Amino acid sequence: MKIGIVGAGMVGSAAGYALALRGGASEVVLVDLDADYARAQAEDISHAVPFAHPCRVRAGEYGDLEGAGAVILAAGVAQQPGESRLSLLSRNAEVFAKVIAGVQGAAPDALLLVATNPVDIMTEVALKASGLPPERVIGSGTILDTARYRSLLATHLGIAAQSVHAYVLGEHGDSEVLAWSAARAGTQPIADFAAQVGAPITDDVRARIDDGVRRAAYRIIEGKGATWYGIGAGLARIVQALRDDQRTVLTVSAVTPKVGETRDVALSLPRVVGSAGIVATLMPDLADDETAALRSSAAILKETSAQLV
Ligand code: ADP
Repeated sequence: MKIGIVGAGMVGSAAGYALALRGGASEVVLVDLDADYARAQAEDISHAVPFAHPCRVRAGEYGDLEGAGAVILAAGVAQQPGESRLSLLSRNAEVFAKVIAGVQGAAPDALLLVATNPVDIMTEVALKASGLPPERVIGSGTILDTARYRSLLATHLGIAAQSVHAYVLGEHGDSEVLAWSAARAGTQPIADFAAQVGAPITDDVRARIDDGVRRAAYRIIEGKGATWYGIGAGLARIVQALRDDQRTVLTVSAVTPKVGETRDVALSLPRVVGSAGIVATLMPDLADDETAALRSSAAILKETSAQLV
C-alpha cells in the first residue's frame, strides 16, 4: 500500500521510519511545506531500507500522493511565545484545510490518519474539512497511552504485555480515562489476576500506573522537547491494520455520534480497524466513576472544538 505523509517533521518522519523498518508500506511519500526538509528526511529514511523491508521512500508534491491508500497528517505549526492554545489550534485548523484540499485533489479515496496534536480536536477538524465519513478519518488518539498502560500493568504482574487487555479512553491528554474496571489479564479481571499472582493492585500501585500513563508525554517533553518515536511506531501499527485488513482492536480517535450528552465528538474508544477504516466501535463496561470521567472528557473536548468555529 502506498502511504503519504504530510508534515515531514519529527512525528511524520518517525512514522515514515517506523513504516520502513516494520514493512507496512510499498511506498512512502513525504510532503512538506519545506520541500528541502522533506527531501532530506526521505533520503535519510531511505538509507534504512536496505537493512529492512523493500519500500520506496521519497519526497514529493501533493500530486505524488495519487493512489495512496492512506495519508498520515502530521503537519502543524509551532506555538509562538505567549500564543494561546486556541490561537495555535485555529492556525493548525487553517493548515489542515490547505493540507486536506491538497491531499484530496490527488488521492480522494485515501483514508486520513491524523497525528497532529491536540489529536482529537484535529480529527474533528479533518473530518469537517474532508467531508469523508467518520470511519475514514482516524486519529492516533490513545493508541500510545493504551500501550503504555498495558506495559506498566504487565510489568507489575510479571507477565507479557500481550496478555494484558486494557484501554485508555477519551481524550489523548489530561482528561483521559484508564479503564481499570474493564482491564483483564488472560481472561480474568485484573484485580483477581493480580491477587492470584501475589501482586495486588493497591491504591499506591494504581496511582503510580495512572501517573506513569498520564504524565509520560510531559516527562519526555521535559527531557527532549517533544515526543516522536512512540507515536511514529503507533502510526505504523495503524497503517498495518489498514493495509492487511487486520480488524485489530485499537484505541484510536474518531468522531463519535454520542458520548453521554455530548454529540459528534472525536475521542478514543476501542475500535476494530481494517481496510475500510473503523469497522466497529465498542463501548466497554465501565464503573460509574469511569463512565462519568469519559463523559466529562467528551464534554471538555467538545467545548474546545466548539470554540474553533
Ligand atoms: P512535530 O514534532 O509535531 O512533528 P514539527 O514542527 O517537527 O512538529 O513538524 C511539523 C511539520 O509540518 C514541519 O516540517 C512543517 O514544515 C510542516 N508544515 C507546517 N505547515 C504545513 C503545511 N501547510 N503543509 C505542509 N507541511 C506543513
